Amino acid sequence: ATPTSIMVGTGKAAENGILFKGGEHLERTHALNAIVLDKTGTITKGKPEVTSFTGDEETLQLLASAEKGSEHPLAEAIVAYATEKDIDLVEVDDFNAIPGHGIEVKISGNNILVGNRKLMQDHQIDVGGAEQEMIDYEVEGKTAMLIAVDGKYRGIIAVADTIKETAPQAIKELQEQGLEVIMLTGDNERTAQAIAKQVGIDQVIAQVLPEEKADKVKEIQLQGKKVAMVGDGVNDAPALAIADIGIAIGTGTEVAIEAADVTILGGELLLIPKAIKISHATIKNIR
Ligand code: ADP
Ligand code: MG
Repeated sequence: ATPTSIMVGTGKAAENGILFKGGEHLERTHALNAIVLDKTGTITKGKPEVTSFTGDEETLQLLASAEKGSEHPLAEAIVAYATEKDIDLVEVDDFNAIPGHGIEVKISGNNILVGNRKLMQDHQIDVGGAEQEMIDYEVEGKTAMLIAVDGKYRGIIAVADTIKETAPQAIKELQEQGLEVIMLTGDNERTAQAIAKQVGIDQVIAQVLPEEKADKVKEIQLQGKKVAMVGDGVNDAPALAIADIGIAIGTGTEVAIEAADVTILGGELLLIPKAIKISHATIKNIR
């Protein structure tokens, strides 16, 4: 491997908005045969919007007030929705994030839970007829969250995040380059499958807890594969670090960018097959 051709390769990549931290990463990109992509903020725009809320106004007020303390994109969507509806947010006494499941918040003596089925199961909350409503949202690729106040089910809120326009094309190019493409997400199986279908991914690993993302990448590596991980979140950082090549979304968190080997500007997924193409051209020149 001549250092000069590697420099030319990383320079060419940089001109295109693909920022390699070093030439060795460009060389390793050439060997990849699997790529794992996070869903929210990587495949999707990461700007979810509330599409429907079932529940009374008091529940919406408690829900949005509770979510005010969360940095999750789902929380931002809920707060924006309530603000639009002129709901006044109230003071929170105690905020607790339950990673991968939701939040538990105390507001003037009331205990508010917002999150997925698992959160409700863990607190033995009977959500009754909400299950079918959840399924209806999930098959459309939406994320539905359940709300309980003082141990009683109170409502359901659905949030939709749209895929990046160029995601299907990027996935197609990666598949044509011979890579196995896998989606990894903390979201539920049904929502994940619906989004995967929209972009042409057939392998989905869903309901993965934040701390388990790196383990999933490791498992694929243990099958003898050279794996790239693409992600934007704080949650993705350990997986980005453990992957053979960690690819951070430029619009993502600082933590993800630091943990990765490459950053793609603007989160443009087409830059990933482009990076692979450049690595192939570079290595061909060397040999
Ligand atoms: P993602 O990979 O989509 O970022 P997370 O692991 O952060 O997933 O969250 C998984 C699931 O936990 C979400 O789909 C949602 O159901 C629930 N959840 C996480 N954070 C919150 C929150 N702030 N409010 C309500 N539900 C949440
Ligand atoms: Mg993400």
